[in-house]
Amino acid sequence: MNIELIKGDITKTQADALVNAANSSLLGGGGVDGAIHRAGGKQILEECIQIRNRQGKCNTGEAVVTSAGNLPAKYVIHTVGPVWNGKEDKSSKLLEACYKNSLQLAESLGVKTIAFPNISTGIYKFPKELAGKIAVETVKNFQSENIDKVIFVCFDDDNEEIYKKLLD
Ligand code: ADP
Repeated sequence: MNIELIKGDITKTQADALVNAANSSLLGGGGVDGAIHRAGGKQILEECIQIRNRQGKCNTGEAVVTSAGNLPAKYVIHTVGPVWNGKEDKSSKLLEACYKNSLQLAESLGVKTIAFPNISTGIYKFPKELAGKIAVETVKNFQSENIDKVIFVCFDDDNEEIYKKLLD
């Protein structure tokens, strides 16, 4: 599996699957979630509503999939990151679960390229260094048959610096 770092907007990223840092309502929000719903159009929200009607809210650490609407991708994988509450062990396990469950879902869909934002490091206030370490380790440890490229899309300068160091 190749790992790439891109600085920029995930809605402009070419990949089979784009991961969204959603919230448990699945009904959209701010940050990357807002950007994905805005750029992807109403199809994504309609499918999120269908998922909610079927299974209720999406728990922290879990992942669900919709189509990608107008985005240059086949799928959007919505995962709910943990809100940082200072409890490092529990939050770290949940963040790891976000990456693992998203990768597993992508793998089961036959995805070859997948792009991740820096889950939980915005509104959810997860410490960026720790979040980056967990993201990179979880991706490196994932055994995949189908996925050949994972792209970390860093939106802010801090995350770009952190991922540059981690991937060196
Ligand atoms: P969370 O609630 O999981 O913290 P946020 O969307 O607030 O989600 O932030 C997660 C990360 O996504 C942050 O690092 C933020 O800088 C980044 N981000 C915000 N908008 C975009 C975008 N359009 N593309 C990629 N990353 C983005």
